[in-house]
Amino acid sequence: MSIETNYKNLKRTLPSHVTLAAVSKTHPIEPIVELYNLGQRLFAENKVQELLEKHPVLPSAIEWHLIGHLQTNKVKFIVPFIDTIQSVDSEKLLNEINKQAEKIDRKIKVLLQVKIAQEDTKYGLEVNETKELLLKWNSGAFPFVEIEGLMGMASFTADQNQVKGEFQFLKHLYDQLKLYYPFKTLSMGMSSDYALAIDCGATLVRVGSALFGSRD
Ligand SMILES: *Cc1c(COP(=O)(O)O)cnc(C)c1O
Repeated sequence: MSIETNYKNLKRTLPSHVTLAAVSKTHPIEPIVELYNLGQRLFAENKVQELLEKHPVLPSAIEWHLIGHLQTNKVKFIVPFIDTIQSVDSEKLLNEINKQAEKIDRKIKVLLQVKIAQEDTKYGLEVNETKELLLKWNSGAFPFVEIEGLMGMASFTADQNQVKGEFQFLKHLYDQLKLYYPFKTLSMGMSSDYALAIDCGATLVRVGSALFGSRD
């Protein structure tokens, strides 16, 4: 199917309170421009190098999100233009984002990536680490970052019940923290499970292959 068909079908199924992040990793410039011309503005990449190659040759109105693990020594390269860093998984990283953002007097939006999957290969904060970081942020430790919510990646499994349990876990934590912090984004769900994620309370879904086709 064409990107246009994929996009229109997907947009039709998304409730109005759910934001779509188009995951363009590994895909070339042309299909990204095609999607942009259909009206999509939020695109997400998981690698800094690829983001640095694409960003200068694509429209400046694109809101770029980083969704992959970020090394502290690369933060300075993306801070001038990134809209949101969804994959904050350590205090060291949050500290570096704050430091680089302060240098250019720009406030950076971030999400805290919480570990919800069973596999221990996935990056992410434990619940207690998430709460500790938020307490520090609230007491003024990172004035150049705006923590807008949480992000999570479910286990890579065909077991929908397990995936659902992981999404519900994150939604519960999100609701709990939202009582104390100005949260507005719960990022969960990809091509294979975004409908389930939305049922479980996602406000942002990260969809790649269902839009652009498989990455092979
Ligand atoms: C690649 C990726 C996605 C999108 O995956 P698809 O299955 O292609 O939709 C979503 N989130 C993260 C963190 C990713 O790395």
